[in-house]
Amino acid sequence: MKFVRFCRNDEVVYGVVDKDCVREIEGDIFSDCRALEHRYPLEECRLLAPCSPSKIVAVGLNYRTHAEELKMEIPEEPLLFLKPPTAVIGPGEPICFPDMSQRVDYEAELGVVVGRTCRQVSLQDAPDAVFGYTCFNDVTARDLQQKDVQFTRSKSFDTFAPMGPWIETDTDPDSLLVESFLNGEKRQSQRTGDLIFPVYELVSFISRVMTLYPGDVIATGTPSGIGPMQVGDEIEIRVEGIGSLKNTVVRQ
Ligand code: MG
Repeated sequence: MKFVRFCRNDEVVYGVVDKDCVREIEGDIFSDCRALEHRYPLEECRLLAPCSPSKIVAVGLNYRTHAEELKMEIPEEPLLFLKPPTAVIGPGEPICFPDMSQRVDYEAELGVVVGRTCRQVSLQDAPDAVFGYTCFNDVTARDLQQKDVQFTRSKSFDTFAPMGPWIETDTDPDSLLVESFLNGEKRQSQRTGDLIFPVYELVSFISRVMTLYPGDVIATGTPSGIGPMQVGDEIEIRVEGIGSLKNTVVRQ
């Protein structure tokens, strides 16, 4: 199933995609909910980021090819950092190029949406902790990442966490093609089978560090082919079996 969040009469509601329509949902998608009968045409719904995370846990250098292009060592354990919920934007919303930076990069990633409150999850139980998957762009001020010791500033500007267009609940996270297209030109293309630390290992590992809540998002790392975006560019993140997330870059 594909779960969306959208605006209806100035109210934010959840829905489920049914062919080219959206059925509004009553209740909480992470616990009890039911789809109502009324249908809205999908193309008329202004989709928002598909959930509202309390935190985004991102993973650095999780593809060998990307670690190599940055001339970084392959980590022995998942390298974690956080992106704040204030950075989240949805499909079609602008990415703001901040004044502080000269170089802002796209990073195509598979986003994992947590389904329940959990901590200390075993590898075996990790699939049950996941609600679904979405396309994620880990937008990064590369110059500031190289300048600062910590990742916080470079990864946390408002609008630096585009995600969507929906949460797909029925897919196998271990064999998805993750791609980015800058102004329609392919820039990244690699399968999640190449992840150094695969999805369920990440869920288990992160839950041994911090409690995860329903709607929290794990950004699983980006393949090689990262590069800069300019004001006016359109960046598209595509994940096989999920969909396509497009955003354009504007001056702050
Ligand atoms: Mg990343």
